[in-house]
Amino acid sequence: HKPGGNKQLHPSTMEAHLKATGGQVVTRFPPEPNGYLHIGHAKSININFGYAKAHNGICYLRYDDTNPEAEEEEYFIKIREAVEWLGFTPYKITYSSDYFERLYQLAIDLVKRDKAYVCHCTPEQIHEHRGGDAKGPRTACSHRNRPIEESLVEFTKMHDGFYAEGEAVLRMKMNLEDGNPQFWDLIAYRILDTPHHRTGSEWRIYPTYDYTHCLVDSFENITHSLCTLEFRQSRESYYWLCDALEVYKPVQWEFGRLDVTNTVLSKRKLRKLVEAGVVDGWDDPRLYTLPAIRRRGVPPEAVNAFVREVGVTTANTTIEVSKLDYHIRALLNERARRVMAVLKPLRVVITNLADDYCREVVVPNIPRKPEAGEHTVPFTKHLWIDADDFKEQDTPGYYRLAPGKSVGLLHANAIITCTNVCKHPETGAIEAIECVLEPETAKKPKAFIQWVAKSEAHQSPVKAHTIAMYGSLFKHSNPMDKNAVPDGWMSDINPHSLENIEGALLETGFRSLVHDWYKEQPDKEALCFETCRFQFVRIGFFCLDKHTTLRVDEHGVPQLEGVIVNRTVGLKEDAGK
Ligand code: ATP
Ligand code: MG
Ligand code: MG
Repeated sequence: HKPGGNKQLHPSTMEAHLKATGGQVVTRFPPEPNGYLHIGHAKSININFGYAKAHNGICYLRYDDTNPEAEEEEYFIKIREAVEWLGFTPYKITYSSDYFERLYQLAIDLVKRDKAYVCHCTPEQIHEHRGGDAKGPRTACSHRNRPIEESLVEFTKMHDGFYAEGEAVLRMKMNLEDGNPQFWDLIAYRILDTPHHRTGSEWRIYPTYDYTHCLVDSFENITHSLCTLEFRQSRESYYWLCDALEVYKPVQWEFGRLDVTNTVLSKRKLRKLVEAGVVDGWDDPRLYTLPAIRRRGVPPEAVNAFVREVGVTTANTTIEVSKLDYHIRALLNERARRVMAVLKPLRVVITNLADDYCREVVVPNIPRKPEAGEHTVPFTKHLWIDADDFKEQDTPGYYRLAPGKSVGLLHANAIITCTNVCKHPETGAIEAIECVLEPETAKKPKAFIQWVAKSEAHQSPVKAHTIAMYGSLFKHSNPMDKNAVPDGWMSDINPHSLENIEGALLETGFRSLVHDWYKEQPDKEALCFETCRFQFVRIGFFCLDKHTTLRVDEHGVPQLEGVIVNRTVGLKEDAGK
C-alpha cells in the first residue's frame, strides 16, 4: 500500500516521516472523551494496538477532544483504564488539544493558499447551498470567493472573540461539484463559548473533527489511520486536506463496526439510559460498556478473544451476545473457584444425626485441577438447600427432593430422603423439611444438589446482602428494529433485567476464597472487587461487586459485611440470559 492513496507525497515530506519513525508502523486509537468505551471500541483497540504490535510498531492513545461541550474528566480516566484493562499499553497518551496552536497556524496557511474562507451563513443557509432537502445542485455562497486578505482578517476576528457563536465559521474551499458530500466545503473551525477541559478559556474557536483528525494523524506520523466504515467517504477529504497543506499524509483503512445483540452501544443512547435512571450509571453490569463488562466480572481476555474471533471484518457485523458468554465461560471454568451457595435457603433437619454431629467434607477448589487446592466445609444435622431444589408435589422427570424422594448432597458423599414437611401452623408456609441420611450402601441418586451447613464448631455460613442476577436489558435482540419495536428502543427495556436476591447463604469456604483473593490484591486501598471471581456450583459464575463492604480486622483478615455479588454469566446458554 502506498501512503496517502493516489497522490504521491513530496519526497522531502516522506523523508521527514521516515526520519521520525524509522519506517516503523505507527497507529492510534482516537476516542472522543464524551462517554465510556464499549465493546465495539474493544475491536478498534485490538486492531490498532494489535496491528502495531504485529509489525513491531507503536500505538498512541489519543483523546480526540475537540468538542468541549461533551467532554468530562471522568471520561478521560475511564477510557484510559479500559484500554489498560484490556492489556494494552499506549506508546504515549496525547490529546488533539495538544495541537490547537499548530492547527490554528495551519488554518491560516490554508486560507493563504486560498483553500479556506470565513463564512457567515447560518446552518440552514449552508444546508440550502449544499442542495437542501431536495438534494439539488450545490451553489457557492457569497463568502466563498471573498479575497484571501479579507478571510484572514475575519478569521483573526473569530479567534479574538469579535463574533458570537454561530456568526462565523471557517470553511474549507473544496469541490462543490463533487458527488461526495465530504467535498462540500466542510467546516474547519467554529466558535464555541464553552471552556475546554484542558485549555480552559484560552480558545474561543475549536477545530472540527474533519479538520483535526487527519492533521493530528499527520503530526504524529501515523502510518495507518484505521477507522470504521462510516469514514469511507471522509477518506477523500482526509487526503484532500493533507495534500492542500502539503503535509505528510498517512493512509486510511476502514474496517467494519462491531455491534452485539440485545443492547445499544452508541454513547448518545447510553447517556440517555443513564440520565433516565434506567441503569445504575455507565458501568451498570447490564450494559456493554467496557467498565460495565468489567464490573460484571468478565475477564478482559474473554473480551479480546471475542473480538478476535469476530476478526477484522470489512463489513459491519452484529454478533450474538452469547458468543461473548461462550468465551467468558471457557475462561472462568478453568479459573473460578467453586463455592456452594443457596440463593433461596430452605432449612433441612437430618433427623437421624446427633445434634452435635459434624464431619469435615473436602471440596476441590476447581474440579479436575488439584493444583488449585481444596477446602473443607462442615457437614452437620442442620443444613440449608435451595428452595428451588425441593418440590412438595413430585412430578415425573423430576429428580431432586420431594416427600419420600432422595437426592445426593454434592461432595458430602451423602444421600438424604425427605420424610416430613414442617409448615407454619397458621400460614401453611414451608418452614423446614425433615430428612434422613441414607446408609452409604444406598443406591446412587440421579441428582446431586448444593447445600450449606450450620455448625457450632465452625464459622457460620456467609449471608450475602444481595445477589444481583443480571439479564438482558432489552426484550428484543435488536431494540432498534422498527418492526419489532414500533415505539422505539426505550420502550423495549426488559422490566426483569435485574433480580436482586437477598439473604442467600454461602458456604464457609467463601471466606477463605475472599481472603486468598485479598492477599493477592496489589492495592489494598483501591480494591478491584470484580477480580474476585467464583462459580456458585450449579448456578453460574459470579464476582464481588464494587459496592461490597470489606472490613479488615486486626489480623489483616477481611470480614465480609455487605456482600454484593454480580452474576457474570449463567452456566448454560439458556440460564440467565
Ligand atoms: P459511538 O458512536 O458508538 O458513541 P464513536 O464512533 O463516536 O462511538 P469514538 O470515540 O469516536 O466513538 O471512537 C473511537 C474509535 O473507535 C474510532 O476509530 C471508531 O471508529 C471506533 N469505534 C467506535 N465504535 C465502534 C464499533 N462499534 N466497532 C468498532 N469500532 C468502533
Ligand atoms: Mg464520535
Ligand atoms: Mg458516534
